Amino acid sequence: MLRWGQTVFSQLEQLSLHGSCSLCERTTPDIFCQDCSRHLKKYQYPHWDMDTSLDPPLLAWGRYEGLLKQALAQLKYNQKTKIAQSLGQWLGLAWLNTHPSTRGTILVPIPLHVDRWKQRGYNQSLLIAQSFSHVTGLPLAKQGLVRVRATSAQFNLSRPERFCNLEQAFKLAPDFAKQSRKQSILLVDDIYTTGATATSALQTFQEAGLDVIAIAVVARADDF
Ligand SMILES: [Zn+2]
Repeated sequence: MLRWGQTVFSQLEQLSLHGSCSLCERTTPDIFCQDCSRHLKKYQYPHWDMDTSLDPPLLAWGRYEGLLKQALAQLKYNQKTKIAQSLGQWLGLAWLNTHPSTRGTILVPIPLHVDRWKQRGYNQSLLIAQSFSHVTGLPLAKQGLVRVRATSAQFNLSRPERFCNLEQAFKLAPDFAKQSRKQSILLVDDIYTTGATATSALQTFQEAGLDVIAIAVVARADDF
């Protein structure tokens, strides 16, 4: 009886030591269980090449589909903030693979408007950029870019409306432009769809004479 009690106790202890998978709730010491991790990696692009047909080039870790799409939704709308740690790490490794040395590069996450930030409690792109910074060693300007206009949710809008919606949506933090003049900027975001957000952010940097060398995103939607 004592032995049985001890076994149950030690199983309970293990359960409390281990967390659960951020996607399927199965017990695991990691952010994703092995099944979910394997499944997510099916959406990873086979080659970590930058898309240089865009200017600046785009590095996307995976396709915005299936479980990767669900994971990003859980991160964004369901407080599953740990998901950003894994996805940011994977994106960081993809960056290191294509750019072994990028000294003088500073990470800037795409910001949320302060009202949405307060409502959600966090900015998912900042969490991804923090993990990316941890893996690559690149410094992070947490609030280098600021969202000055609250914009409508993009998913209801047509492609031209998305570009209009985001015009003049950003500005640079007061000292950031001066401090970053000699550095190259790497923009970090969760998803790339039409490119409307990136285009608006890029205009803000260009107007201040700053050089954006690339955009890194976890997932890219190819059907826009
Ligand atoms: Zn799982």
